[in-house]
Amino acid sequence: MLISEIGEVQLIKCLTEDVSLDPELVVTGIGDDAAAIKHPGDKLQLITKDILVEGIHFLREGISPWQLGRKSLAVNISDIAAMGGVPRHLLTAVAVPSDTECGLVKEIYRGIKGLCREHSINLIGGDTVRSPQGITISITLLGEVEPEQLLLRSGAREGHLLAVTGCLGASAAGLELLLQGYPFQQEWEEEVLKSHLEPPVRLKESRMLSESGAVTSMIDLSDGLQKDIGEICQASEVGARIFADKLPISDATRKACRYLKIHEVSLAFIGGEDYELLFSFPPERLSWMKDLWQRERGENLEVIGTIVSKEEGLKIVDSRGGEITLSRKGFVHF
Ligand SMILES: [Mg+2]
Repeated sequence: MLISEIGEVQLIKCLTEDVSLDPELVVTGIGDDAAAIKHPGDKLQLITKDILVEGIHFLREGISPWQLGRKSLAVNISDIAAMGGVPRHLLTAVAVPSDTECGLVKEIYRGIKGLCREHSINLIGGDTVRSPQGITISITLLGEVEPEQLLLRSGAREGHLLAVTGCLGASAAGLELLLQGYPFQQEWEEEVLKSHLEPPVRLKESRMLSESGAVTSMIDLSDGLQKDIGEICQASEVGARIFADKLPISDATRKACRYLKIHEVSLAFIGGEDYELLFSFPPERLSWMKDLWQRERGENLEVIGTIVSKEEGLKIVDSRGGEITLSRKGFVHF
């Protein structure tokens, strides 16, 4: 059935009929002129918003409506996680052409609501409008954080170490696969595609890091390590030295890079949308952080770089400490 046949009121009713809300936090959600929620007491309110536009942020044939809904919320959760916070309430705005099948919009909402259930986020309102062409989804996400656990980009100091919560470059490899017209019938395909279409949600790690008291700055990797470490450097007025041979790259990404003839370190450094968390901490907390990582995640925490003076700027270096320049094709040594 097309949206034009059932109308907006019926559509909203159908999209929101199975929404469950936390009565402790939500006085009234969908169904009144505005939602009424309880203020988080002594905590700080976090608010973030992202917009995904068809043809710019995604191609309709490259992502399923369920994945699109899930991703549109996941990228917002990532921003709340980057502040050390917990997501609480969500407002959606979806614009679709009137000849869109109701089923497609329901699938987008199924993706959103699934992630809401997983992380106890309340869908408290939104808007659905007709668009002249293409799908646009915009999400506003409200979260909260204890003032002492708020993590900013501006706390990195010279000598601090840098680490990430997961592998880099997989999402960019997945995007490249979509652009080059998969499938290529390769065993690594599904994993890199999934990284791009279903980004990770690092809320558990964010909590662990903010509660550790060791983290001095944090950002989520949406635009790629090179650009996002640049944001920390700018906000903290420092430089950074990234160790090329320490960047975590999965086997599937390495295989994809070999197949697609892209340089893997370039992809890990420049590629975007990994939605891992990048954070800094003082060197005296290293063994403590390594223990925490081993205990909580069963993994070795790899130091991928170090904070240097602002004058030194941002550099990526090889195992001998020599500066390298990366392009999509690979290394250019000085
Ligand atoms: Mg961000």
